[in-house]
Amino acid sequence: MYDAIVVGARCAGSPTAMLLARDGHRVLLVDRATFPSDTLSTHYMTPDGVERLREWGLLDRVLATGCPQLHGTRRTLQGMNLPADPNDPLTIAPRRTVLDKILVDAAREAGAEVREGTSVDSLIVEDGVVQGIRAHTGGQVFEERARVVVGADGRQSFVARQAGATAYNVVQGTTAGYYAYFADMPQGSYAELYLGGGQAMFVFPTNDGEACLGVEFQAGRFKEFRADIEGNMQAAFATVPSLGERTAKARRTSRIMGLSPHQSFYRKPFGPGWALVGDAGYYRDPLLGQGINDALRDAQVIAGALGGVFTGAQQWDPAMEAYEQQRNAATGMLYNLTALLCKDLDPTPEVLQMLAAGPPATAPAV
Ligand SMILES: Cc1cc2nc3c(=O)[nH]c(=O)nc-3n(C[C@H](O)[C@H](O)[C@H](O)COP(=O)(O)OP(=O)(O)OC[C@H]3O[C@@H](n4cnc5c(N)ncnc54)[C@H](O)[C@@H]3O)c2cc1C
Repeated sequence: MYDAIVVGARCAGSPTAMLLARDGHRVLLVDRATFPSDTLSTHYMTPDGVERLREWGLLDRVLATGCPQLHGTRRTLQGMNLPADPNDPLTIAPRRTVLDKILVDAAREAGAEVREGTSVDSLIVEDGVVQGIRAHTGGQVFEERARVVVGADGRQSFVARQAGATAYNVVQGTTAGYYAYFADMPQGSYAELYLGGGQAMFVFPTNDGEACLGVEFQAGRFKEFRADIEGNMQAAFATVPSLGERTAKARRTSRIMGLSPHQSFYRKPFGPGWALVGDAGYYRDPLLGQGINDALRDAQVIAGALGGVFTGAQQWDPAMEAYEQQRNAATGMLYNLTALLCKDLDPTPEVLQMLAAGPPATAPAV
């Protein structure tokens, strides 16, 4: 019997398992993936996500992989150029193959039992309370029980579906996008964001001297864009001469990965014997990044709440309600701003002003 079984071992699951294990709790962490492995995601991290890695003693490991140290974002917002500020706090964009491996290893080192290549097939539910998992590793089927099963299994969360987690504040998808990795791309020590004219483009310097380049566009263009992905990506880059010139010289080193139009949502992140963290509980369009940062922050908050419950210092309902409220308070403003931006990728002067000034204190409701 474990204190917690965590399903999903990337940005949300591994830190949740690591922090619980560091506090002496008995944790099983499972993922159907093995590590290192990639996942559908770019990987620009916000400064507070970077600081969280530092606090956990993991930032040096990420930097030791050669991941470039970045300061600020060079932004072109509907033709208005805003240079990157070299005094901005440190940001990084480590490949997920790098970051997720470091996170899962840290969970293992902290004492969590980690089973990679393990798929959860169903939840064990007795008298309406989740008691554990039925899963398989290769051909070996097994059951394990815990005081709580934590779904850190991404936006299509199996745990959320099986537990019947309700969604709220759902926003229909209005964008789609593609990204890929390029070598020989001249780039600075900062991220780049180009927004306006119905599309957004970004450049993140990442491991191995490569750049991650992407384009996000309105959902209505998805079919047409898909007909010639490479040509349409280059045409988008060419709308900004300084970007088009550099990408024309760069060499693509990966396949092109894509995201079709998709919903943003919040889910009720707990119920009897189960909880959700990361994209499983809250997902928004990746236009402004943030998902990794949100996952790391929520891992810290939920680990604190669960730890309090395990030691008897806190009751389940108030501890988990506080977790949900903290998550929603931390994300609400950017959730609304992202939805507003994604409507047409043509920000109004009011939204432009917010983006130029940095994160606003409040954002208009969607
Ligand atoms: C195209 C795209 C670009 C993005 N760009 C950025 C960005 O630049 N910056 C940023 O901060 N965020 C970005 N995000 C968001 C970011 O990817 C997510 O917020 C982040 O990955 C959430 O981590 P997670 O651990 O919650 O879920 P995931 O990373 O999705 O991990 C879930 C894990 O659960 C495992 N799993 C699922 N089901 C089962 C099962 N039944 N049994 C066992 N294991 C299971 C999966 O194998 C997976 O490893 C982007 C997202 C997308 C789609």
